[in-house]
Amino acid sequence: VNNGQTIIVTGGAGFIGSNFINLQLAEYPNDRIICMDKLTYAGNLSTLEEAMKSPNIHFVKVDIADRDAVYRVFEEEKPDIVVNFAAESHVDRSIEDPEVFLRTNVIGTGVLLDACRKYGIRRYHQISTDEVYGDLPLDRPDLLFTEETPLHTSSPYSASKASADLLVQAYHRTYGLPVSISRCSNNYGPNHFPEKLIPLTIIRALADQPIPVYGNGVNVRDWIYVEDHCRAIDLVMRKGRKGEVYNIGGHNECSNLEVVKTILHELGKPESLIIYVEDRPGHDMRYAINPSKIYDELGWLPETKFEDGIRRTISWYLEHRKWWEDILSGDYRNYFEQLYESR
Ligand code: NAD
Repeated sequence: VNNGQTIIVTGGAGFIGSNFINLQLAEYPNDRIICMDKLTYAGNLSTLEEAMKSPNIHFVKVDIADRDAVYRVFEEEKPDIVVNFAAESHVDRSIEDPEVFLRTNVIGTGVLLDACRKYGIRRYHQISTDEVYGDLPLDRPDLLFTEETPLHTSSPYSASKASADLLVQAYHRTYGLPVSISRCSNNYGPNHFPEKLIPLTIIRALADQPIPVYGNGVNVRDWIYVEDHCRAIDLVMRKGRKGEVYNIGGHNECSNLEVVKTILHELGKPESLIIYVEDRPGHDMRYAINPSKIYDELGWLPETKFEDGIRRTISWYLEHRKWWEDILSGDYRNYFEQLYESR
């Protein structure tokens, strides 16, 4: 008998969502996970291959902005908790074509919130980002984002995520919906889509290909190992106070150039592979998180040291060549769509 809770995880076929699902399945054998994912270019069922062997997970291919489809899932599954990872997540793509960012990140969040109101839930948790706070100057290491830092977005991506956060807070204030929000810094680790800095660097370095770095590489991010982030989300979603925002950070500020050099060093590749390319428009200089609220209230701290996390990540990419080669070749799309249709 399964006396646990039913948890809808949207965007669970993506980077962070898939790591979160693996953690939930391992730690809560009585809970049932419904993974709701549209399988965009960034979502890949092969990422969930291990997870799908569990009897406790059910996958539905649904666009969170498709109201009827979302309501049907809520009606059938009667979730206790909804955690929303689904998003368009790549800043560069949002600069090229913002529209889908509005549809998924804003409208999609609104649809999920309406479904939660209509069917009733115990908790709606929104996965947000430190990018909603804008950026900090490089020469003021004393400044950190707190939960009270005003929203001040730079890219269409961050503007869409901030809009979603405001909707979530409005549904708490107006309708009393039991919500929470976590805003995390840059994640790295297994299952990270190869277009992002760390996996891109690993994969290109392995092939001795040039590694593009924006501008002069000084932009600083606070890197957190994805598993640490997933543990924080789990705590906030189950024990965090309703209506509250929690910042999550890795206590690990590092410039893009330092990140790339660390990876090259680990792989025994020369720094001459680095090439500097024209900077991203509106490129944020520095993000840095003050995570003392989640520490004080829930006792969470990031556990993984950057050197260890990077080594584990590199090993994962070396051991899962097929995963990223299939993504890069585009084959996975046809293959998994067929697999899914045949079920
Ligand atoms: P990702 O791009 O790897 O995964 C996104 C997933 O959402 C994919 O599986 C995709 O298929 C799915 N998706 C996209 N549009 C959808 C739609 N309309 N309906 C249903 N599913 C849809 O992203 P990620 O890096 O895992 O990020 C997950 C969440 O965490 C996002 O909300 C992102 O804003 C947030 N976040 C990411 C980071 C980071 O460093 N990656 C940091 C802070 C916050």
